[in-house]
Amino acid sequence: MGYDTENIFAKIIRGEAPAFKVYEDDYSLAFMDVMPQVDGHTLVIPKDNAENLLDVDAEILGATAQTVQKVARAVKEAFAAPGIMIAQLNGSAAGQTVFHLHFHIMPRFAGLEFKMHAREMEDFAKLESYAAKIREHL
Ligand code: 5GP
Repeated sequence: MGYDTENIFAKIIRGEAPAFKVYEDDYSLAFMDVMPQVDGHTLVIPKDNAENLLDVDAEILGATAQTVQKVARAVKEAFAAPGIMIAQLNGSAAGQTVFHLHFHIMPRFAGLEFKMHAREMEDFAKLESYAAKIREHL
């Protein structure tokens, strides 16, 4: 099929769709997931036309992994989370729904369950306040 340049994350990179941004550099972008599974659910994406981990440029992947680490540390501090889960899905059979490579960063607390994957839109004021809180820890 090939990479679809009209996917929502490509539009966010180009500034054609809004996002609650947390961090950005030449190679990657981090922003809040609009249908979070937990409070603080953040996404990191490469600035590359890659559908998934298997087809991304290796150099851009390396830079994006550094962003995942940087943002995960900030999310952990901002939410005082004892655990941080990183998830990354490749292909619809694996549950991928947006076909631009992305890493999920999710604060985890023992006994606190996830919400359903990509189901319920979060309040935008909450997302903006979470993004600001994470930015303070970068
Ligand atoms: P996947 O299932 O592909 O691993 O995850 C896609 C993620 O993107 C889901 O967690 C979903 O909530 C999130 N998502 C879908 N559409 C949008 C959007 O327009 N903006 C943002 N920020 N997140 C989105």
